[in-house]
Amino acid sequence: MHICKTIDEFRNFRHTVSEKKVIFVPTMGALHEGHGSLVQMARRLAGSSGVVATSIFVNPTQFGPNEDFHKYPRPFEQDVANLIRWEADVIFSPSPEEMYPAGSATSIDPGPLGNVLEGAIRPGHFKGVCTVVAKLLGIVEPAAMILGQKDFQQQRILRQMITDLNMPVELITAPTARESDGLAMSSRNRYLSSDQRARAAAIYRALCHAQNQYHSGIRDSAVLQAGMIEQITQAGLEVQYALACDPETLVPYTGIVGAPCVLLIAAKLGTTRLIDNVLIS
Ligand code: AMP
Repeated sequence: MHICKTIDEFRNFRHTVSEKKVIFVPTMGALHEGHGSLVQMARRLAGSSGVVATSIFVNPTQFGPNEDFHKYPRPFEQDVANLIRWEADVIFSPSPEEMYPAGSATSIDPGPLGNVLEGAIRPGHFKGVCTVVAKLLGIVEPAAMILGQKDFQQQRILRQMITDLNMPVELITAPTARESDGLAMSSRNRYLSSDQRARAAAIYRALCHAQNQYHSGIRDSAVLQAGMIEQITQAGLEVQYALACDPETLVPYTGIVGAPCVLLIAAKLGTTRLIDNVLIS
């Protein structure tokens, strides 16, 4: 396993594999089996002759001033052990100063998709995400990048950025990995008490319930949304949004919900925010 802490170190490594197909999985670390499913997919796509590149970087510019940047878990040794187990080849894990040296001033505006849903609650979040991912793509130069559907809006916005900025990379969206009760795996799940952890499963139950309603012919957005809100609220979570949206525009359906459709939920348990979604195509 190669561990590169600086951009120069990574570029030197990259030079030694310039002829090989590089598949990239960016992360913020605190890795779980959801990340593992992405890295293992990268391994399959790269084959034994290709390179699986990962990054571990808790990106300060995508956290708001009152968010969990400082308390975000950073179990680096454990992450390395997991990445060895999942057969990654290289880890790029720069410091914030390496990525944002004094004087760095350029950022990427994600456009209107960055202002809705997560972007409405976390102003500036997607500007930080786009900027860091553009920088990482410029450093890693992968043929393909794998992102999780778990962060639906993120993969939608980054797909738009790659198109709009003519970036020579294929974007692959991988399915959401879940715990046995359906809770989407997340680094933030470790913040939950055991009582909160049990309640958190209501998010996926609410998504599945609305998906079943949709498949049984219920297409009224108000009915689907009210059903999700009721289920989550009953479990003691605070709903931030529970919407049926167009997966391309991320605009919530009003009236009749069309196809395709993505059901998106954000909810809080104490101070922990959880998001999840189900795509109906
Ligand atoms: P993060 O470390 O939270 O920034 O996530 C890194 C990547 O892993 C992102 O593309 C996420 O969408 C993806 N990811 C996080 N959780 C899951 C999950 N439960 N299933 C699949 N992908 C995930």
